[in-house]
Amino acid sequence: MRIVMVGTGYVGLVSGACFAEFGVEVVCVDKDATKIGQLNQGQVPIYEPGLAALIAKNTANKTLTFSTDLKAAMQGATAVFIAVGTPSRRGDGHADLSHVFAAAQEIAAYIQDGSVVITKSTVPVGTGRKVAAIIRAAAPDIAFAVASNPELLREGSAIEDFMRPDRVVIGSESAPAPRALAEAVLKTLYRPLYLLETPMVFTSLETAELTKYAANAFLATKITFMNEIADLCEKTGADVQDVARAIGLDGRIGRTFLHAGPGFGGSCLPKDSMALIRTAEAHASPLKIVEAMVAVNDARKASMAQRIIAACGGSVAGWRLAILGVTFKPNTDDMREAPSLAIIPLLQQAGAKVQAFDPAGMQAAAPLLPNVTWCSDPYAALEAADAAIILTEWNAFRGLAPTRIAQVLKQKILIDLRNIYKPEAMREAGLRYVSIGRG
Ligand code: NAD
Repeated sequence: MRIVMVGTGYVGLVSGACFAEFGVEVVCVDKDATKIGQLNQGQVPIYEPGLAALIAKNTANKTLTFSTDLKAAMQGATAVFIAVGTPSRRGDGHADLSHVFAAAQEIAAYIQDGSVVITKSTVPVGTGRKVAAIIRAAAPDIAFAVASNPELLREGSAIEDFMRPDRVVIGSESAPAPRALAEAVLKTLYRPLYLLETPMVFTSLETAELTKYAANAFLATKITFMNEIADLCEKTGADVQDVARAIGLDGRIGRTFLHAGPGFGGSCLPKDSMALIRTAEAHASPLKIVEAMVAVNDARKASMAQRIIAACGGSVAGWRLAILGVTFKPNTDDMREAPSLAIIPLLQQAGAKVQAFDPAGMQAAAPLLPNVTWCSDPYAALEAADAAIILTEWNAFRGLAPTRIAQVLKQKILIDLRNIYKPEAMREAGLRYVSIGRG
């Protein structure tokens, strides 16, 4: 089988490489000729563990190719995935569907009988029907199907998530012929996961679309709930790590997404939460919990700089601050909505000079964070700094020697917004250690 990915970003590239690994012939198409040029020269434009090796293997055996030519790519293709971006629409928080609809128009020009157009992008409920209408209007005589297969992978563990997902969600049109076509094609594509007995949830288009948003909003709420519990722990002398462990052992709650921190960011949770709120408003069915969650998270990110300044004794004017980690999470170079983008400029406005290190994100971060001195390793960032702040929990920071940190920091203040160290060990090393929700 031959398939086309329209959009070779995080999702399109990872999904394309993983389908190629399943043995499907994949053409990843993108409008960005620079990106396709890089990929054709063996360069991978994003940092994702394991991705470069997977691409190298599948381009070498020609299962995976890259192109800007949609017409040629679609010749003889059974399935076409739409994996373009759906960012927040400037000003109102609705999902910007212009790329999705443009992709549908382009696909309509080359659609063939028996093919399936599958939306992998995260799109508001009702979008699949609109995609179908766009293509049917342009190609009324072609017998094709439209499906929704929202992508549930996480950056940083994207390949593992794609290869061994908790479930695959497939939404199809209600008419029997397109439904049968879409389900048959997607079952064939995901055959290796079928064999692993991965649950396949077959639904309507609308259910699949809403499922993705409900999952993201639930996860964002879990994080935000724990962040507020962390604040209460600080006021009461309780330890949020122990609270998280104790409640997480309850199977109804679950252990993941209970880690307190500076507030969530990333390419999905913030924009998807906003888009869900807008969809709910449009249907006069408000989601008050999601609205509160977004407001609490925004306020948290904005207040983190003040917390840091307070931990530094009330002023950072003239101080050098070492920042460890700037990406929104470890194992990615993605800077979208990273807490560092909210925190670092406020520290600079308060008079601090910032020197920073991130294992993968510095190239992406440099244009977004002006006047930061970028360092070659964590110890270089700590050198001659007054205080250090851990913003992203990269494994590379877990093994830093507390005594060496204490030796180099002038004011001996370590602010850990990810709780990666044990407070006793830091205090024994002579550091003033401030973390989240630990008394
Ligand atoms: P991205 O911005 O990294 O990539 C989108 C790509 O689409 C870009 O390379 C862009 O040039 C290309 N593109 C846009 N219009 C095009 C067109 N008409 N033809 C060809 N290429 C086109 O976005 P992403 O992070 O991969 O996200 C894609 C979708 O998947 C979004 O809806 C997102 O919400 C969703 N999603 C993302 C993640 C994630 O972790 N990044 C996870 C699950 C779902």
